[in-house]
Amino acid sequence: MGDYTHILVAVDFTESAEKILVKTRDIAQRNHAKLSMLHVVEYMYPVDYVNDPVASNWVVDDVEMLENAKKSLQEFSTKHNLKNVDLNVQFGRPKHVISEFVRDHHCDLVIIGSHGRHGLSLLLGSTASAVLHAMPCDILTVKIEK
Ligand code: AMP
Repeated sequence: MGDYTHILVAVDFTESAEKILVKTRDIAQRNHAKLSMLHVVEYMYPVDYVNDPVASNWVVDDVEMLENAKKSLQEFSTKHNLKNVDLNVQFGRPKHVISEFVRDHHCDLVIIGSHGRHGLSLLLGSTASAVLHAMPCDILTVKIEK
């Protein structure tokens, strides 16, 4: 048994996610740790659509959306030869969902990219920066060149 027992990797499906997964696989194997992958689906109904007579008829199948995201996560883990991975998809804001997941599942290492979609102009991406402040455990931010 290595230092870490339960590792969470946050996957946003950008190009950088490939680099993050290669490192994650290595670290998980060396630590003989349980590995969880999490993708957060950021879709939200705009609040004013709910009472809009036209827009409220637009149907978005939440279940199908989550299932598709899970399928992508499965393909991604297969492509990277990750076995026995716990796959998770949830709706919400990535920074909140990642922090909650870590607390609820007692992860002891979070692996996240320094930059993804949200924070290209920042020193550290917005999700990585928020998670860094909220996290009760170690964090590895994989450097993504802008
Ligand atoms: P960003 O805040 O977009 O710069 O993203 C930085 C890192 O946060 C990414 O490399 C991912 O590891 C993670 N991240 C961002 N968005 C998501 C998401 N929707 N689901 C899971 N992880 C995410």
